[in-house]
Amino acid sequence: MIFPAVRRAIRFALASPLVFCAGLFAQEPFQFPTANHYLYERGSELKFFAPTAPDKPWTSGSFGCVRNDGQRLHEGLDILHLQTDRRGEPTDPVMVAADGTVVYINMKPSLSNYGNYLVVRHVVEGMEIYSLYAHLSAVRPGLKIGEAVKAGEVIATMGHTSNAEVITKDRAHVHFELNVLVNDNFAAWFKTASPGERNDHGEWNGQNLNGLDPRQILLDEHFQGTNFNLLTCLRGQTELCRVLVRATKFPYLKRYPMLVLRNPVAEKEGVAGYEIALNFNGVAFALMPRAESEIKSRAKFQLLSVNEAEEKSNPCRHLVVQRNGRWELANEGLRELELLTY
Ligand SMILES: [Zn+2]
Repeated sequence: MIFPAVRRAIRFALASPLVFCAGLFAQEPFQFPTANHYLYERGSELKFFAPTAPDKPWTSGSFGCVRNDGQRLHEGLDILHLQTDRRGEPTDPVMVAADGTVVYINMKPSLSNYGNYLVVRHVVEGMEIYSLYAHLSAVRPGLKIGEAVKAGEVIATMGHTSNAEVITKDRAHVHFELNVLVNDNFAAWFKTASPGERNDHGEWNGQNLNGLDPRQILLDEHFQGTNFNLLTCLRGQTELCRVLVRATKFPYLKRYPMLVLRNPVAEKEGVAGYEIALNFNGVAFALMPRAESEIKSRAKFQLLSVNEAEEKSNPCRHLVVQRNGRWELANEGLRELELLTY
């Protein structure tokens, strides 16, 4: 018997000569969550992505500020189905993108715009990354939270469940995310930050999972082959803004120590806060410890700089705002920092 992953690789190698650049059996950190690999074929984007409507571009099914004229974030990829049953229902198996552990299964579609969804924890290059698979029709019978899963293993069946949008059968897709986890204490923070609001999913609420661009990651690891490095990819994020937080102990520092930079002054005098680079989606990708002598303000959060070009290209998280010609942290930005440092 040929293992499914190998079989897929062979089938794919036959379909596209490009795969040899990456090495046929090279272990890529993340695999596609379905058999749809059209992402690699330039010009075939409409076979890979499910746009939000027939008259919308394929980019509306991609990651980033791709909706409502760039004002609304889509935090994953909408990967189109390849197969249906006689009733037109999608039947594509959904496969886990990397070795990991199932951490969350929501099978109450009325509780989320993700519908039925699954979250899997991975450790890649020592970093915790969380993949998410949404709008599922079914999860593999017997699959449990805490179960270890192997890359390529079937974990669910594609569907079109959601409590918010109507996803028609013809644009049935898996919504696929790759995320960093912001804070283990999310549920407690949410109670104080959003009193009276329901949180049905504990720390596996989408607000606690900050998405990276899976399209970029899948393409980079494909074309860079064994040279691909997730940490380089994370560190290479475009900076939207830089902030100084007067907090010294928060879970993110322990979860992503590889993103914490060295500063001899703070090492000598003691750490009084962190200077943090955020990308447009609020992902903290570089954290520099700062000593008291290096901090000018008493404020809990201080906006140090804004990359205006990036804010113009990717404004949809609305983390910063310009008032009277001056940049300030917007409510969304403050909320992101409150959660990060809670
Ligand atoms: Zn989506």
